[in-house]
Formats: sequence, structure tokens, C-alpha cells
Amino acid sequence: MDYAFFEGKIVPVEEAKISIMTNSFHYGTAVFEGIRAYWNEKEEQLYILFAKAHYQRLIDNAKCLMMNLPYTADELVEITKELLIKSQIREDVYIRPIAYFKDLKLTPKLIDYTPEIAIYIYRFGRYLDTSKGIKAKVSSWRRNDDNSIPSRWKVAGAYVNSALAKTEALLAGYDEAILLNSQGYVAEGSGENIFIVKNGKAITPSLNEHILEGITRNAVITLLKKELLVDVIERPIARSELYTADEVFLTGTAAEITPVIQIDHVKIRNGEVGEITRQLQEVYFKAVRGEISRYKNWLTPVYEK
Ligand code: PMP
Repeated sequence: MDYAFFEGKIVPVEEAKISIMTNSFHYGTAVFEGIRAYWNEKEEQLYILFAKAHYQRLIDNAKCLMMNLPYTADELVEITKELLIKSQIREDVYIRPIAYFKDLKLTPKLIDYTPEIAIYIYRFGRYLDTSKGIKAKVSSWRRNDDNSIPSRWKVAGAYVNSALAKTEALLAGYDEAILLNSQGYVAEGSGENIFIVKNGKAITPSLNEHILEGITRNAVITLLKKELLVDVIERPIARSELYTADEVFLTGTAAEITPVIQIDHVKIRNGEVGEITRQLQEVYFKAVRGEISRYKNWLTPVYEK
């Protein structure tokens, strides 16, 4: 049975229920995280990837919504371990922490409400096709501007923007959307950061391009530089550069490293996964499962050995 952390206790997930009157349900004033844990069969160990960084981002984002959570990042990591142990997880899983205002009151504001945090386990599998790659559509929807609903924060309400773009892409026969920012430069996917490769160099939008500061984005920059010896340039990317790129890939906790093999009507590299993307995936998937000792500091082991 799966357990959830709800109102300060670990309970069976069916018991973790909120009221329809919950304030944040109405206004999207919740912040959340997506964390993956990878099962290493040989070691019989479950590794949580970047556990502390995710909880630190959650606490920081929550603070921006004036939610003072009564837990440190380390305490939330410990609670998550407990949850995974109690649920006896021995496979890859996704973990969803969410902080919200529990008050049964209306008025879209951030003061005089009571913050709460819930954490549950979700069996995601692969979010997008990481082996064959995906087709992406440049969205007619623009990324929400950092000055309207901050794209830098993982705020629930901002995902209306993602849902519109993703739905438009799916209905048009694509797998994912690529959103431009309000200046017309490439921002990110509906739930992923984006990289292009051109002439052996990797390029990704800089952090002031109205994007989320992806934790996977950071890890991928490290791997590109240190393992693949590929330069990474952070700068604005024009939409037109997408179509002429040698390789394009998306990064995210859920999406991991997903090759993009077609954008709108244009095939990238004749629709084949690029060499740098392939090499990057290889090292990333080893690192997250604890198979590369120098990246073990990315991981939190769940089971005592
Ligand atoms: N951008 C958006 C809009 C996202 O929702 C996500 C997923 N959290 C990402 C980028 C990737 O972030 P991370 O690597 O931290 O999961």
C-alpha cells in the first residue's frame, strides 16, 4: 500500500483528502515539486535524485507565497525516506510534494492563511519517449512572464499556461509544446527546459529568459562540460534557430533527457537522435541510478545498509 504525508502524519494515501473549499484549490496558490527516485537492482537500493535541492526550491518558492513551512529541507528529505520505506518502494517512482493554503476560505490573497504540506508517491514511468525522441510544436501560447506569474517559481496556477500549450500540441498530433517568452525568444517546454546543439556547442536559454531554474538543467550543464567536454552557452535563442539546430533535447525531472526529433514541420537531423544527446542520456541514466561514483552526491539512499 502507498502512504502519503498529510497534515503532519504518514497515512494511507486514500486517507489524504482535502475539502472542495480549500483556498489554494480555487486560486492555484500552491507550490509543488517533482522528484524522482531510482531503483538500483544490483545494490538493492533506492536513490532519491537531488532530494535536498528540490525541497530547498519548494521552501524558497513557498516563502515567496508567504508560506512559512515548519520544516527544513533536511527534515522533508527524512519524511520522504520514511514514506518510501513504509510504502516498500523497490522500483522507479516519482514523488510529488505540494504546499498549499488549507483554509476553507475564499479571497485570493497570501496573508492570514495556514500553509500545509503534503507528499505522495506517483508511478509515472517514462514521461516522454526518451529513446526514439518526440515531436514538438512551437506553441501559440507565450510562456507566462516572470512579472505576471513568476516562471521562476513552481506555482500551481502557472501550469494553466503549460496545460494550454501541451493540449494544443497534443491535439495537433505532437507530443510536447515549446513555448516562446513574451519577447519572442525560446523559453522552455510545458514542463522541461530546452537545449539545442549547434556546431558541437550546447546552447540553452539563460535564467532571465522567463524559465524555471531547472535542477536537471543544472545537472545537464555539468555533464555536458565535465563528461562530454562540450561548451555550454546560456543566451537567448531565436525560434528560427530551433529548426536549423543539429540536435534539440528537453530536460526535466519527469522528462529526464528527451530528444526532440521534429519541431513543427521540420525534422531535426532527419528525425534521428543526435550523438551528443545520446551520450548525455547514457551518462545521466547511469548517474541517477548510482552507477557513477563521482555523482553519488546527487543521490540520497533510502534504505539503511
Ligand atoms: N520547466 C518547467 C515549466 C517545469 O515544470 C519543469 C519541471 N519541474 C522544468 C522546467 C524542469 O525542472 P526540473 O529539472 O527541476 O525538474
